[in-house]
Amino acid sequence: MQEVLKVAIQKSGRLSEKSLEIIRSCGIDFATDSRVLRERAGNFPLEFLFVRDDDIPTYVRDGVADIGIVGRNEFDESGFYLEVVKDLKFAKCRLSIAVPNDFDYKGLESLEGKRIATSYPNIMMKILKEKGVNATPVVVSGSVEITPQVGIADCICDIVSTGTTLKMNGLKEAEEIYRSSAIMIARPGFTNTVSEKNRILQRLLERMDAVELAKNKKYILFNLPSEKLDEAASIIGGMKSPTVTPLMDRSWLSVQSVVSEDRFWSVFEDLKAIGAEGILVMNIEKMTE
Ligand code: ATP
Ligand code: ZN
Repeated sequence: MQEVLKVAIQKSGRLSEKSLEIIRSCGIDFATDSRVLRERAGNFPLEFLFVRDDDIPTYVRDGVADIGIVGRNEFDESGFYLEVVKDLKFAKCRLSIAVPNDFDYKGLESLEGKRIATSYPNIMMKILKEKGVNATPVVVSGSVEITPQVGIADCICDIVSTGTTLKMNGLKEAEEIYRSSAIMIARPGFTNTVSEKNRILQRLLERMDAVELAKNKKYILFNLPSEKLDEAASIIGGMKSPTVTPLMDRSWLSVQSVVSEDRFWSVFEDLKAIGAEGILVMNIEKMTE
């Protein structure tokens, strides 16, 4: 029987679409039927398990899944000892302390002796403990923002994105205490094992790297007066050498190279300034270094 790598992905929520998009960008085909809880990829030994995000660390720990894509917040909150294989850098969010508008917040020490409602008691208490603050967690699984109004908490610790929900509930963001993004997790040591499953994972990671590398690069192609080649090479910089092809008109060259996205506009303008013409810019789908 052929081994497959089992990956746990959030069934429906903020992580779902992007998790699948990353895998699809690695050239892996699969059907997306939202009613299915298990799905086998067509052209890669991967099996998806679609589950609630809260359950992903447990599934990975227990070996139901080999890897999982989950928010760092859920992972840290689980307290499980697992390996963070890769930071996927999406679903970025922050965990903040928010207090009623009339609360005179002067720093974490203002929370001494307070009741703080949160869905992340472990993360919160660890941070408060490190700062020497004693507070009582009030654990709720949703609608954290209403707890001060109904009198079961003095303030809250919750994921904040725009702050609109806070405002609607008479709260203000007082302090960010933790940052999260989506990560890939595995059992401890999984990426060091000699196994078919780990070989599949390494292939997947290699493809992810190639997609990621390409995302920040542009392929650039232009015509250049021959005598400007040295100047163009120094403007482009970084690369071993641009590819240079002579044109029919021997006083001109066609030059091709790869430029990183953040430098692209300055390179473009500098090349124009030395007489480059017909500058073509293309996205790169995949790339290895
Ligand atoms: P489930 O039904 O799977 O339990 P959920 O309601 O617990 O879903 P979501 O709201 O879909 O979870 O959030 C999933 C993850 O997305 C969170 O754990 C967090 O890492 C991240 N996240 C939460 N809020 C935001 C936000 N406003 N912006 C970006 N990422 C967020
Ligand atoms: Zn959840």
